[in-house]
Amino acid sequence: MTSEEIKEKYSMRDIVERYGLRPNRAGFITCPFHLGDRTPSMKIYKGDFHCYACGANGDIFDFVMRMDGSSFKEAFQSLGGEYIKPVLSDSLSIYRARKKREMAVKQAKRAQAEKDLNNLLISVYRRYMDRFEPFSDGWCDCCERLQKELYRHEILNEMG
Ligand SMILES: [Zn+2]
Repeated sequence: MTSEEIKEKYSMRDIVERYGLRPNRAGFITCPFHLGDRTPSMKIYKGDFHCYACGANGDIFDFVMRMDGSSFKEAFQSLGGEYIKPVLSDSLSIYRARKKREMAVKQAKRAQAEKDLNNLLISVYRRYMDRFEPFSDGWCDCCERLQKELYRHEILNEMG
């Protein structure tokens, strides 16, 4: 149970009764946290307590902690609390794993697109190498522009 679930499950009254304390008709008990409380001064509300004599107050966990002299963790566990790995870190790791997969897919696509582009350029080059003087300035410019255009249209669109 989480601390919220524990608070839903146990009222303040349930908790004080665990220690043999019974609220009177008006909902007061003799304060266990100060001596000589002849007329019960501690009011037991639904979810918390308040002593009108000594000022002690808090919720069910505070009450158990003070009665048992324990830490919050001990009080929490004695009431059936369990520490659960925060949901946030779960969804964060799922998110990271998904991002990693998406990156891998993108990289694979990019590598494939580069390979396709290279093959295309090689085939263009082979096809025309007999007709043009290879590696003339004109050819290089053309080739570069073709590469840029293909890259922009094919790859970037694909990357979306
Ligand atoms: Zn008191």
